[in-house]
Amino acid sequence: MIKIKTAEEIELMRESALIVSKTLGMLAPEIKPGVTSLHLDKLAEEFIRDHGAEPGFLGMYDFPNTLNMSPNAQVVHGIPNNEPLKDGDIISVDCGALKNGFYGDHAYTFEIGEVAPETKKLLQVTKESLYIGIREFRLGNRVGDVGHAIQKYTEDHGYGVVRELVGHGLGKSLHEKPEMPNYGKRGRGKKFVNGMVVAIEPMINMGTNRIEQLKDGWTILTADGQPSAHFEHDVALIDGKPELLSTFRYIYDALGIKSNEEEEFRRHEFH
Ligand code: MG
Ligand code: MG
Repeated sequence: MIKIKTAEEIELMRESALIVSKTLGMLAPEIKPGVTSLHLDKLAEEFIRDHGAEPGFLGMYDFPNTLNMSPNAQVVHGIPNNEPLKDGDIISVDCGALKNGFYGDHAYTFEIGEVAPETKKLLQVTKESLYIGIREFRLGNRVGDVGHAIQKYTEDHGYGVVRELVGHGLGKSLHEKPEMPNYGKRGRGKKFVNGMVVAIEPMINMGTNRIEQLKDGWTILTADGQPSAHFEHDVALIDGKPELLSTFRYIYDALGIKSNEEEEFRRHEFH
């Protein structure tokens, strides 16, 4: 059953989402060559607790850490370790926080040092597909409309859309109904209604959409060893339209990146 949230609950969820946003913003300048993902994980755990929240992933399904840290060919669910990050790497950082009984859950793929142009392009297109998908999360549309939009946009660029892992409803549980695949057919699946909150999270591979899992039982990586990107926002359906609860602006502020993508998104949605 899809759990519809009240306006008050959505405000609490915004708070949880923003703790994650700020955590990613805090991490952004720390993500550089020589730093280990385990070090970043400790910084994130401390930061989340200092903000009166609990790490959302730590212990969830027995996951051992605060962050999912997935470099290069890893798609998602990478476990932080002691290997230093290298110039030219990318790393997808997925973070959850629990506050007031509600989860925030969002993700960003960072560049480390100088990244190959084709990898930059993968990150750019994946992030664009996130907003293109979110735009379809509106009253009267269905789950398949979001998936279709993401799939069409990314496959048109020759990329592979991961099938086995999907976005999801979000609330008092980290994973609620409905599942939000990044592929699908227009007009299919559950209909959206006001008060739904979902995590939309394209996981896009430069090459094949096929994946493998490491023996650690967690890490998902591309079958062909090519890079994969992952961006995730938490979104509420309010007055028929999608509203971003999470934001990348703390990341952009920390890195000095000029981006008005969220303002652009809102302009399209509300005018
Ligand atoms: Mg996530
Ligand atoms: Mg998620």
